[in-house]
Amino acid sequence: MDKVLTARDLRVEFGLPGGRTARAVDGVDLDVAPGEIVALAGESGCGKTTLARTLLGLERATGGEVAFGGTPLGRSTKALKAFRRHVQLVLQDPSGALNPRHTVYDAVAEGLRIHGITDDEPGRVADALARAGLRPPERFFLAYPHELSGGQRQRVVIAGALVLEPSILVADEPVASLDASVRGEILSLLLRLKEDAGLGALVITHDLGLAWSIADRIAIMYLGRIVEQGPVEQVLTDPQHPYTRALVSVLPDSPVAEPIVLAGELPDASKIPGGCRFRPRCQEVASGSALAVLGQCEGEDPVLGSGAHAVACHLVHARMAA
Ligand code: SF4
Repeated sequence: MDKVLTARDLRVEFGLPGGRTARAVDGVDLDVAPGEIVALAGESGCGKTTLARTLLGLERATGGEVAFGGTPLGRSTKALKAFRRHVQLVLQDPSGALNPRHTVYDAVAEGLRIHGITDDEPGRVADALARAGLRPPERFFLAYPHELSGGQRQRVVIAGALVLEPSILVADEPVASLDASVRGEILSLLLRLKEDAGLGALVITHDLGLAWSIADRIAIMYLGRIVEQGPVEQVLTDPQHPYTRALVSVLPDSPVAEPIVLAGELPDASKIPGGCRFRPRCQEVASGSALAVLGQCEGEDPVLGSGAHAVACHLVHARMAA
């Protein structure tokens, strides 16, 4: 199998006081291949970050499986180390990700040292910095994080991931902490790494505009599950799931005619509604448009259909079957 990062029926549950259980990730299937960027989008609290951490082995799955190239993610330190050479994390806040007392050289070399890669360390560090757009790389070797701009710090973080020559990056809100002026530069860098080096990326974001500008595919997550996924252009120009339609409706130049205001707040992951988990907020239910499938909406959580553009909604499935 190619170097594809896969999640199959992935589940992450947390025990809470009072014997309650939060189902933060609740049966997710997802693939990220080298050379493609997949955006994972949804409101804050929908489980995106827990899913990303579990894909990296930083959070323990309570069910299902994560695999890379067909090999399941092992739990031993050795297995996790081997896995992380292929799948690297890029954090949201470069200031938090970099030790203020470490030079750029040491920050980037850290991964090599952890993995016991000793041949040509300066050459590998220089190459990673250059690929992250810090040129000439030697000029940055002895710099400290506080001497760099926010964009340069994020490039150092990305270089620290690239130095291990991974196949996939998992980037959690990679530009959220940056000024608008440098966001575009970092997104262009991710695109260039995809085009030139065949790097794949899972980009976690709440920003559908960002997803549009960078991703090949998008997965929309709601309360621990993916409710719609497909090619980014198809999903954002022709959103099908009522939740995706609501998110897209507030974008500039939205294909959805009227802005849709979702009822209520995102429920707690320990109180996932029965039936379709989106039902209490579903505008199709509220407007009566889903009357024909209401019994199904109340009785069973819809599964993501098959196909390149897949949707987890009884109403959409019924319309497609008609
Ligand atoms: Fe709304 Fe029913 Fe579709 Fe759920 S299954 S999103 S409740 S129409």
